[in-house]
Amino acid sequence: MLDSLKDSVRKFLTGSNVYEKSVEDFIKDLQKALISADVQVKLVAQLTERIRSRLREERPPSAIERREWFIKVVYDELSALFGGDVRPFVNPPKLPYVIMLVGVQGSGKTTSAGKLALFYKRRGYKVFLVGADTYRPAALEQLTQIGRQIGVPVYGEPDSKDPVAVSSKGKERALRERAEVVIIDTAGRHGYGEEQQLLEEMKSISNAVSPDEVILVMDASIGQKAFDLASKFNQATKIGSILLTKLDGTAKGGGALSAIAATGAIIKFVGTGEKVEDLEIFNSRRFVSRILGMGDLEAILEKLRATGELDEVQKKMEEAMSGRTKITLRDIYKQINAIRKMGPLSKVLQMIPGLNMLPKLPTQEDLKMTEERMRRWLAIMNSMTYKELDDPSVIDKSRIRRIAKGSGTTPEDIRELLNHYEMINKMLKTMKRRKDLGKLFGQTG
Ligand code: GDP
Ligand code: MG
Repeated sequence: MLDSLKDSVRKFLTGSNVYEKSVEDFIKDLQKALISADVQVKLVAQLTERIRSRLREERPPSAIERREWFIKVVYDELSALFGGDVRPFVNPPKLPYVIMLVGVQGSGKTTSAGKLALFYKRRGYKVFLVGADTYRPAALEQLTQIGRQIGVPVYGEPDSKDPVAVSSKGKERALRERAEVVIIDTAGRHGYGEEQQLLEEMKSISNAVSPDEVILVMDASIGQKAFDLASKFNQATKIGSILLTKLDGTAKGGGALSAIAATGAIIKFVGTGEKVEDLEIFNSRRFVSRILGMGDLEAILEKLRATGELDEVQKKMEEAMSGRTKITLRDIYKQINAIRKMGPLSKVLQMIPGLNMLPKLPTQEDLKMTEERMRRWLAIMNSMTYKELDDPSVIDKSRIRRIAKGSGTTPEDIRELLNHYEMINKMLKTMKRRKDLGKLFGQTG
């Protein structure tokens, strides 16, 4: 689903068109992909407007290429489209915990009852299943078979025609057997478009067993039609969440996910296959990073984190310029580490303000030496204790020998780092506000 987006991201990141043109091409690809995944046109329009307005109003952090930053913006806004940062809470807040599944015929309730039972069993809860679909003769048999497969007891009454009675008796039995999580599978005879009847039925069972949570099971292949049922459900019960099934088998999953998110209902789980293990806790950011391409996105997010760390060090340096504080080796460590995460030095140098004001442009040779030195210094600092990092004045000859041994360097290398450390602090004190950061990692120009 939405598979083409990975290629669009690739094309965008490596493309040689002018930036503005690439952005427009990407946005077109994005719109096309979302609409063919059945996302409502209105939502697609809102999404692209939000992306455009962020492009107008925000600037990428200095050390990030704007193409990468643009993908991050897309990632944020798509995640919001699919439900944002709500982390569904799946552990039962109280025990025993009674979950009731509702949903139209064929949406995947019985299968999902089994999946949930296994999910909670694996988390260490004593689980009990109740089969209250009294309309289809084979329904109880289906649930019993799943129960046997995963080793969870099932209550049901083969000859009953009264789902309300079976539900309450099943719950009683479960509680007598000291079950901690009770999952009630119901019938749901109605099709989509008959939301009202489905909700009535939900209410009558609900009144009898007072569940702690009602989970609406929906088939993702209905796409944006999920909106009506999800919004009525969301209004009808405060204790409701949604399990979206068959996400593996449809191109319309994006439509269903966005439609449900637009109602404010919470998607807790998604079903991703027919097997009893095929259940995932839904996380919109994870979902979006998967459709945009895990690898590309992770690399961008990692860089953004690194610039955040670099900003922190920058702030400390500004404080140090006022003379009140000192830079420690820990700060230098953080800085070098962050810079190395951001890519090849030749590129990073061009992008960090301050670094490109070096007296003369570093040659390839200079850069190589600097990279070497950064690697060496990290190794040295890795072999130091926290005490040594925070207060290098304690580092005497014998400590130097120990650190050299531990890091596979020489005592001279360590003295070089310590000299650099002294030099930085002296420099920061006299420098006041000049941001000549290049010197911080030994770029002597
Ligand atoms: P119910 O009528 O709501 O109880 O639906 P069932 O649990 O009997 O499921 C109906 C059909 O959907 C069955 O063939 C299931 O195997 C299938 N199904 C349920 N969940 C999923 C899913 O997440 N992925 C796939 N591919 N099939 C599913
Ligand atoms: Mg069923």
